[in-house]
Amino acid sequence: MMRPDIVVIGAGMIGASAALALARAGVSVTLIGPREPDDKATATGPFASHYDEGRITRIADPDPLWAGWAAESIACYPDIEAASGIRFHHPVGSVRVAPAGSPGLARARAAARALGAAVEEIDGRELAARCPAFATHEGVAVLWEAAPAGHVNPRRKVAALKVAALRAGARLIETEATAVATGPGGAEVALASGERVACGRVLVATGPHARDRRLVPVLPDLKPVGRTVVLFEVAADDPQFRAMPSFIVGLDPAAPDTSFYGVAPVPYPGGGLWLKAGNGCIDSPLPDGAAVRDWFQSGGSQEEARRIRAEVLTVFPALSAARWRTEPCALVETVSGRPFIGRVPGWERIGIALGCNGYAAKSCIALGRIAAGMICDDGWSGSQEAGPLRPVWAAP
Ligand SMILES: Cc1cc2nc3c(=O)[nH]c(=O)nc-3n(C[C@H](O)[C@H](O)[C@H](O)COP(=O)(O)OP(=O)(O)OC[C@H]3O[C@@H](n4cnc5c(N)ncnc54)[C@H](O)[C@@H]3O)c2cc1C
Repeated sequence: MMRPDIVVIGAGMIGASAALALARAGVSVTLIGPREPDDKATATGPFASHYDEGRITRIADPDPLWAGWAAESIACYPDIEAASGIRFHHPVGSVRVAPAGSPGLARARAAARALGAAVEEIDGRELAARCPAFATHEGVAVLWEAAPAGHVNPRRKVAALKVAALRAGARLIETEATAVATGPGGAEVALASGERVACGRVLVATGPHARDRRLVPVLPDLKPVGRTVVLFEVAADDPQFRAMPSFIVGLDPAAPDTSFYGVAPVPYPGGGLWLKAGNGCIDSPLPDGAAVRDWFQSGGSQEEARRIRAEVLTVFPALSAARWRTEPCALVETVSGRPFIGRVPGWERIGIALGCNGYAAKSCIALGRIAAGMICDDGWSGSQEAGPLRPVWAAP
């Protein structure tokens, strides 16, 4: 096997995006990561944050950096869909509902406008008129973001990124990486299959398995957490949910920037159209790989599900009789609220792109481009782009 310049560990949203950026830049790259397990109950390998059918995609965000990464990424969707032949983007629009005067909504509006996104502010009545699934709420402001905002199918998006990367010259090995070793001449990645892959440098993008000392010898100061989502079944012919945007909704004037979020009904494996919602009200810490697996093999938190369902029914009362179920998911929080992209101190051949804080499904193409630059360019850490993404390392 030809020795690749770069091995990317983690064939998820960031890893596949980085492999695509590297391959298109003419770098020899091997992407390592297993497929989604067929039977999650008995799976012993890694799990991922992208095992789902719907993720909000929008530019409006209170953090101008996240807004910029989203805008850059969304602009690439048509190209990735064409390069792969896989459709993942549904530009149905997106709304952010908040108590009138919410500072977060004002910041999101300003960031979106600065990037030229098609946003307008309407009230709760107009929202209910445009999309009757929403109950009318007084005293709220609604930021309506038109297409290309909407949702992406994260499973299909990862598949599209991988196909596009392969077509650009990347190699894919669908197995788990079990160790990384480095020396003066390069690095070596050991695989669960027993194979070893020699390379120049390694980029680790393992999502919820971020705390794995076998791959990253100095742990970044980040927190993988389990989250629960609730899925509500919606009849295919229900007119209330037709032309529905994805949504972030906060109604509490005492906590104007807390919210729940969700995606318009989409088909799920096993049949039916399901509206998905979550609110991140309970963090279930996942300190290591075993805890991540246990979490994904559980049904999630019933307490979190109960709270999500109660919030959803205040906004979508038509769902009170709907069949519903829960799914576990996981994301990785950082102190900065932004990803950590940088080299591991003392291990310069290893870089990380971890800690996406629940926002990277829409923005992974920009973050993959940045991670690709970081792992190739020895001067990157001094760049302006590096500053906000600089990893914080846990005390040994
Ligand atoms: C409930 C929920 C809702 C969300 N909603 C949104 C949303 O609406 N909009 C949005 O933009 N984002 C959303 N996100 C966030 C988004 O899904 C994540 O930010 C994104 O998936 C992170 O990408 P990643 O590449 O870091 O991780 P992942 O996509 O999880 O990829 C990591 C990959 O690493 C692999 N891996 C791990 N360990 C190893 C190993 N040892 N060897 C090889 N491979 C390994 C895994 O198999 C996986 O494929 C949501 C997340 C959750 C949990």
